[in-house]
Amino acid sequence: MGDKLLVVGSIAYDCIETPFASADFILGGSASYAALAASYFAPTMLAAVVGNDFKDSDAKRLAARSIDVSNVRFDASRPTFFWRGKYHENFNSRETIDVRLNAYENFRPSLNEAARSAKYLLLGNISTSVQTEVLNMVDNPEFVVLDTMDLWISTERDALVELVRRCDLLILNDSEAKMLAGTSNIIVAGNDLMGLGAKSVIIKTGEYGAMLFHRDGFFVVPAYPVVSLHDPTGAGDSFAGALAGYLAGRGKTDFDTIRRAMIAGAATASMTVESFSCYKLEQNGAAEIERRCEYIKKISQLQ
Ligand code: AMP
Repeated sequence: MGDKLLVVGSIAYDCIETPFASADFILGGSASYAALAASYFAPTMLAAVVGNDFKDSDAKRLAARSIDVSNVRFDASRPTFFWRGKYHENFNSRETIDVRLNAYENFRPSLNEAARSAKYLLLGNISTSVQTEVLNMVDNPEFVVLDTMDLWISTERDALVELVRRCDLLILNDSEAKMLAGTSNIIVAGNDLMGLGAKSVIIKTGEYGAMLFHRDGFFVVPAYPVVSLHDPTGAGDSFAGALAGYLAGRGKTDFDTIRRAMIAGAATASMTVESFSCYKLEQNGAAEIERRCEYIKKISQLQ
């Protein structure tokens, strides 16, 4: 099943309020979504930390998808990363009400031999310093994907810019891309981020899809048209996880393979938003991802 992928990011408990429903202390975090999504495409290893409130039942959810958790550390002195978010009308905007790093406050990642020899690396959304430490520990990565969010763009900008230069593919959503590039035009942002030293850039545009800026060309993938939107949390992480998993699974990273990986990302992310937490992502399975990939390909063609 291809090369191994190492994912680093947050494992979190989320409290989420949408215009229609709410849920408390559900499994979330960039690494949970990304690793579960990636596990459909490549053998996936996870580097993260959980705290003293982490439930066994949630550990089993990761194990059920054969995710290698031997680099997930346990901090008995603190709770798990916590995030509280609220979506406003029509899911158009999201507000972070509370974020507590908890177990991540003093987290120094450590990797075993298998993780250090990973060829594919997804630096999922977590502090730039943790991402940098993990990248420094991996011996000889062939392809590094970097994701981040507004909190780290504002608190660790210089270190982030430095990290961008060391990565092969930078993935951001539209507002983060504009914030990091310092422009309000999304195309200018993509080009400017390439100018910063990113070898390629994907800008996600929510329900509209995602665009790829690459030295060999430009590409746009539509989102899978979801009718039963329940909770958009984790869509971006699932997109990045499936995409990185797809590249690792194929062992290829050329322009055409990245385009196909974006379709896998869009299909997989569309399952995440159909439930709270990762439930639909875990339950829907590989056949449904494949069906959605084919549908996206079909609606993107003129002939
Ligand atoms: P997304 O909707 O793709 O932006 O991802 C949301 C997930 O990211 C939630 O499950 C949160 O627990 C997690 N999260 C929120 N803020 C942060 C942060 N600053 N660093 C890492 N993960 C975060």
